[in-house]
Order: sequence, then C-alpha cells, then structure tokens
Amino acid sequence: MDNNKVRPGGGFLVAKTPADGIYSREKFTDMQKEFADTAERFFQNEIIPMIEEIEAKEEVEEDGVKQPLSIILLRKGGELGLLSVDIPEEYGGLGQDIITSMLIAEKSAGTASFGITIGAHTGIGTMPIVLFGNQEQKRRYLPKLATGELVSCYALTEPGSGSDALSGKATAVLNKEGTYYILNGEKQFITNGSWADIAIVFAQVDGRYSGFIVDLHSEGVSRGREEKKMGLRGSSTTNLIFEDVKVEKENLLGNIGDASNIALNILNLGRLKLGVGALGNSKYCIDLVIKYGKERKQFGQPIISFDMQKARLADMVAEVYALDSIAYRAAGDIEDAISKIPYDDNDKYQEDVISAVRSYALEASIVKIYGSETLHTISLDAIKMHGGYGFIEEYKVERISRDNVIDMIFEGTNDINRITIFDFLVRNIFGAQIHFREYMEDIDRMLRDGRFDSLEVDTPLKEEMANIESSKRVVAYAINHALIHCGKDIKNEQQIIGTIADMVIAIYSADSTLSRVNEYISKNGEAKSEIQIAIAKLISYKTSSKVSHIAREVIIGVASQGQLDTKLGNLNRLIHCIRQRVNIVDLKRLIAVSVIDTGRYDL
Ligand SMILES: Cc1cc2nc3c(=O)[nH]c(=O)nc-3n(C[C@H](O)[C@H](O)[C@H](O)COP(=O)(O)OP(=O)(O)OC[C@H]3O[C@@H](n4cnc5c(N)ncnc54)[C@H](O)[C@@H]3O)c2cc1C
Repeated sequence: MDNNKVRPGGGFLVAKTPADGIYSREKFTDMQKEFADTAERFFQNEIIPMIEEIEAKEEVEEDGVKQPLSIILLRKGGELGLLSVDIPEEYGGLGQDIITSMLIAEKSAGTASFGITIGAHTGIGTMPIVLFGNQEQKRRYLPKLATGELVSCYALTEPGSGSDALSGKATAVLNKEGTYYILNGEKQFITNGSWADIAIVFAQVDGRYSGFIVDLHSEGVSRGREEKKMGLRGSSTTNLIFEDVKVEKENLLGNIGDASNIALNILNLGRLKLGVGALGNSKYCIDLVIKYGKERKQFGQPIISFDMQKARLADMVAEVYALDSIAYRAAGDIEDAISKIPYDDNDKYQEDVISAVRSYALEASIVKIYGSETLHTISLDAIKMHGGYGFIEEYKVERISRDNVIDMIFEGTNDINRITIFDFLVRNIFGAQIHFREYMEDIDRMLRDGRFDSLEVDTPLKEEMANIESSKRVVAYAINHALIHCGKDIKNEQQIIGTIADMVIAIYSADSTLSRVNEYISKNGEAKSEIQIAIAKLISYKTSSKVSHIAREVIIGVASQGQLDTKLGNLNRLIHCIRQRVNIVDLKRLIAVSVIDTGRYDL
C-alpha cells in the first residue's frame, strides 16, 4: 500500500490533511458536466413542473393502457441515458464512472419522490445485477433496465427484519428436479413495489441467505396496498408477498449464501448516492431561501438582510460546502481505486470492484449521515426562514423537509451507520490498515515530553490546519482510551460508539474542506478565494469545538475514577493546542452577503 496516500477506512484520522488537495467538483471533466447538464435540464423541465401530479401518483393513458406517470417519466429519463450510466456498454449501457452517477443523483434536487423512483431502479434495483450477475443474467436484464422497459426494485426488508437485515425469514427451496426454486415470504416497504417488473429478492436457502432476480409477474406474487407516508408521497412503497413462486434456478444471484456480500456492498454505493442527493436538495433549499428572503420584507427591509437570518444562511452554505467536499472526495477515491483495475467482463473484475468500494465503507457511511442530517437541519431552517409561509405546501420547503426524514432511516438507519463507522474503524486499527498505533505513539511521546509537534505549512489557513491536526490528536486520544478501557465490552457501549462516530464524521468534514480550499487558493489566489477561506475557517472552528467537547464526554464516560484526573489532564493539554481566535460573527456575515449577492449557491 502507498504510504503517502491517505488510507481508506478512516486513514484520514491519523494522516496529515492532504496538501495537494482531494478529488472535488472543481475536477469534473467536460463529459461529466455534460451528463450533469442533461440531468439538470430533465429534472427541471420535465419533473419539477409535474410535481403535483407525481405526488398524487397520477396515471396517464399511453398506447391505450393506463400507466403510472412516474414510470412514463422514468422511461423518458431512459431515452436520455439517465438509467444506463452505471451499466457497461456491452449490455446496452453507457459505462460511465461513479462520479457521473453521483452527479445525476445530485441534480434530482427538488424531486425526491421521483428521485427515489429512479434511484431505486438504477441503484439497488440494477447494481446487484451489474456487480453480482453472471453474463447470461446481464445479457437478459441489463439492456431492458437501461431503457426502463423493465422496472426494478430491491426487496430485503421484512416485517420482522429491518436493521437486522440479514435475519429475513423468506425461503427458497429447490424443487425435486433441481430446475427451479419455490419462493415464499413477505417483504416490507419496497420502493417501486407497485410498479416494478422484477425484484432483487433475498431468501434463505437451507438457512443460507441468498439473492435472486424474481419476475414480479409470476404466479404467486402479490403486492400490498400503497403505504400512506409522511413524505415521498409520489413514490410507490408496498409490501411484496411471495406464495410458492417459481424462480428459475438460473436466477440465483452469485452463489448460495451471498446475501450479505450483495446487500452490504450495494448499500455502500447507495449511501454515497443518498448523500449527494441530500447535497442537491440542500443547495436547492439555500436557493429557495435566498429568493424568498430577498422578496419578503418586514420592518421595511428584506428579511434576508437581518443579521440572524444571515448567520443561518452562512451556516447552511458552510455545511453544504463541507458535504460537497466529503461526498466527492469519497466518490473520487473510490473511482480512482476502480480505475486502476483492468476492465474485463469476468468475476475477478467484479470482485475487485466490490472490494474497492467496500474499502471505503466507513467514508460512505459518513457521507450518508452527514448528508441526511445536513439536509434535515437546512430544510427545517429553511422553513423557519420562510416564517408561516414555510409551513404551507406551496412554498416547497415543507415537502423537502418531510421527504428528507426517511433519508435518516433507509440505507441503514443513521444509528446503524454510526455503528458501521465505528466497526470499520476498529477493524482497521487492529488490522493495522491505518497507522493508528504509530500515531498514538507520537501522541504519547508529545504528552511525555511536553512538546507538541507543530505544523509547518504556508497557507492562509495555517492556523486552521494546525487546529485540525490538534483535533485529530484529541479524537485519537479519546478513541484509544475508550478501546483500552472497555476492551471487547465496547460493543455494548453504544453511546460511546455513537459519539466516537460523530467525532470521526466531524474530522472528515474539516479535513476534506481544508484540503479542497487549500488547492482552490493555490489555483485561484487568495483574493479570489475569500469565501472559500471563510467557509474553511468556520467549518474547522466548529469541528475543533465539537470534538473537544465530545472527547471529554468519552473520557469521562469510560475512565475509571482512579484514572480520570490523569486522562482528563492529558486530554486538556491536547485541547489547549487548539487556538480558537477567529471572529465567527464576521465570517458568517461575509459568507452570507456573498451568496445573497450571487442569488444562489454557486461554489
Ligand atoms: C419509504 C420507505 C422506502 C423503503 N424502501 C425500501 C426498499 O426499497 N427495499 C428494502 O428492502 N427496504 C426498504 N425500506 C425499509 C428500510 O430500509 C427500513 O425501514 C430500515 O432499514 C429500518 O428498519 P425498520 O424500519 O425495521 O426499523 P428497526 O430496525 O426496527 O429500527 C427501529 C429503531 O431501532 C434502532 N436500532 C435497530 N437496531 C439497532 C441497534 N443494533 N443498535 C441501536 N439501535 C438500533 C434503529 O436505528 C431505529 O431507530 C424502506 C422504508 C421506507 C419507510
């Protein structure tokens, strides 16, 4: 492994903030931008004007048959190539990279119900066949999924099996002749449940959980009624019931017992996409707030000019910039790893791609949590900034806020994703995948000698770089102590696990923002980077404050009485290295005025 490269799976926590930048939207190629423009035009011109009809799940007559409007629109997206970017060219797709796929998800902003319809089809409904299907399965299904001739869904959840996703009770039993499986069971909350032609279904085969491609028009398949939901009201969510359904033996996905491999790896990509979807919607909220805030006057002035509203807006902008930075850093790192694998249409290639994606599972969970929770805060703040009008449907922000709640629940609840972050981090610490031990030895030396290494960098963000360096030491010290003190019992200390995950998330956001802004400054000069610098200062200020506070909670939560003073004393010495002298009030005004002038988020 390249020692200079930040290692996947939490390596950023113990590495220096990359001096030469990270992958970010400033590096998009013309081709990626073209796809993004096509997607943006499609969502803006074809979907946004139809939102009310989509939300009402209207049906439209086409060729003498009534069809769901959303499915007609999905096929229109197919004509533009929006369903086929992830599908290899030899199977009727466009074979584009992960970044392009992420960009399409980002551009679906403001259309969450339709976004989830198309996202479930292209993501969890199609990717299991792309990544785990054999050539015959790919030949049979992918060309039709690429156009939308077939619509797909993903059926993992059951009434008794949600977060504990691999404990499903559905069964698939091979018939006596060994020609087909007989599938029985019930799946719950399936997106596209009413509309899909095929489903990726998971079932126990002799106690080994396995994946299948199931034709939903088969005898024995029934679909429940549409769920009445808090949000995503225009999407289809039903249960699927399988009663003695014959599934061809050839439709087993991968091998018997592969469910965990399929389900968990598909989630990694899904989590990234969910994060960028939230990014797009967060930007959309900012644009709505600026527009409304300029038009609405109270006390004789536009409400956006009030200082409190400016502070809210600046927080929104900074969080969105950080989210953008982590989402495309993670996607770019995964794409980089995949691009080094020589392409071949065989199992080895697929396994290597899956393994490359899995190595960034921790980062994917961060993007999912940060994205969904950033949008949560931003959409609620956007409602507040609209006053009473924000509570009224016509003003859009209430729908975005309702639609966002499920982002914190599906693709693994955010609690489960916090556990995932912790689990991968610990695995990579003990497996020496990341240089945690060496890093702790350095920290112990500094505490022993009373001399703390300083960072020599030449950038307007010198102090922030040093602060994040010190913050990483604070976080590592707290994690190390929690691991030593709790030992194996740490798996039962869920509050500690959750707070450790929060510190790791905060560090990734600051590390990525600083690295991206430093590169921006070196390309554009300090004068033209004023807003980016202000954002980086604000994010690193928030991160250092947050981790200092949480690390104390962790140490106090786990240290024995006899050790508490020493451990807290050491932690305080590490925290003291952080210099928080930046004028947050001025920074927020600067950021807000800049986006108000531009009229939209455009960074
Ligand atoms: C609109 C919608 C669309 C969906 N689409 C699909 C789909 O297309 N395909 C599909 O298969 N599923 C789908 N789902 C299901 C979704 O993935 C699950 O709802 C989700 O995984 C959570 O499972 P659950 O609802 O059973 O909650 P539970 O697992 O019962 O969780 C309840 C609470 O307990 C917490 N919890 C659970 N386990 C732990 C633990 N170990 N430690 C700490 N806390 C824990 C959770 O975080 C949560 O707060 C969809 C759901 C909805 C509402």
